[in-house]
Amino acid sequence: MPFGRGFFLALAKSSYLNDHVTKWGFVRRATRRFMPGEAPEDALNACAELAKSGRGTIFTKLGEAITSRDEATVVRDHYFWIFDQIKAKGLPGHVSVKPTQLGLDIEPGMCQNYTEELAAKAQSTGSFLWIDMEDSSYVDRTLSLYRSVKAKYPDTGIAMQAYLFRTPKDVQDLLTVKPVIRLVKGAYAEPPHIAFPRKADTDRAYYELADTMLKAAASGTCLPIFGTHDVALVGRIIARAKALGVAPGKYEVHMLYGIKDGEQKRLRADNQVVKTLISYGSSWFKWYMRRLAERPANVGFVIRSMLG
Ligand SMILES: Cc1cc2nc3c(=O)[nH]c(=O)nc-3n(C[C@H](O)[C@H](O)[C@H](O)COP(=O)(O)OP(=O)(O)OC[C@H]3O[C@@H](n4cnc5c(N)ncnc54)[C@H](O)[C@@H]3O)c2cc1C
Repeated sequence: MPFGRGFFLALAKSSYLNDHVTKWGFVRRATRRFMPGEAPEDALNACAELAKSGRGTIFTKLGEAITSRDEATVVRDHYFWIFDQIKAKGLPGHVSVKPTQLGLDIEPGMCQNYTEELAAKAQSTGSFLWIDMEDSSYVDRTLSLYRSVKAKYPDTGIAMQAYLFRTPKDVQDLLTVKPVIRLVKGAYAEPPHIAFPRKADTDRAYYELADTMLKAAASGTCLPIFGTHDVALVGRIIARAKALGVAPGKYEVHMLYGIKDGEQKRLRADNQVVKTLISYGSSWFKWYMRRLAERPANVGFVIRSMLG
């Protein structure tokens, strides 16, 4: 297939496209399906709107792998402001950061300090800090960052990717710190000796990990969050939670803004705890290519936007 998952994930690595495509109006219009707008105010307004249907929001500013200390400081300060806005407006909002946005590649000590400062701010504003998982080269560093931040600030969570062969052991090891884990399938291009190349294997691994996490939730050693739009899988997980006596709230379902919105509302109406992750900002190229890779049919939105 010419426009398969690999095609878009390869495009995501092009710095030329990153610099140019973000200026093309018709692609900018197409991204509106997945983001309420580039400005943080757009995301805050969308959070207030989602709250009307009982959904919480997770805010994430796009941009990864920054190249200077100053850029990392700007990201940290931006999230300080978001936490203040969440508190001032009384919004049900949390924040999710990528460690490379806080300088993991350039100065790990600074990244550690900034993540801790954000976790402290989350705590003082009654919010919560999420740490995203990036490509497989960052997993060890992200896990150790999470362990040290979680030891000081319990209200922090980490994303774990079901497609990685290592994840069952990583989850098992993390259970000692009573983690909050957002289980996702995984969005990056990984080689076949590291991650399942076949989607069916990732889906099976996801359910097995969900089962492990729900059993841990039953004994109070994990808060599992299921970050997926796979409705059939979510249905099986909810049934499993029920069988294990794990009530809604002892686990949650998180989805991305603009994807399966009707299903998000239906789950909420069914008494599930549902949160929606909103991305915003101008550095959306890599992120948008990952959304196209997840569902190449999304390219139809780009074509329709091009045609006006
Ligand atoms: C809250 C949240 C946080 C995430 N954080 C991370 C992270 O930190 N690290 C990471 O690697 N990945 C992250 N992801 C992305 C994740 O890894 C997957 O790439 C993404 O969720 C698609 O997989 P899926 O589980 O929805 O299942 P799939 O089996 O891929 O999709 C199930 C169905 O959902 C719909 N769907 C899925 N994706 C799209 C899309 N882009 N557009 C339209 N419909 C779609 C389709 O109908 C599809 O048939 C996150 C996802 C969510 C929901």
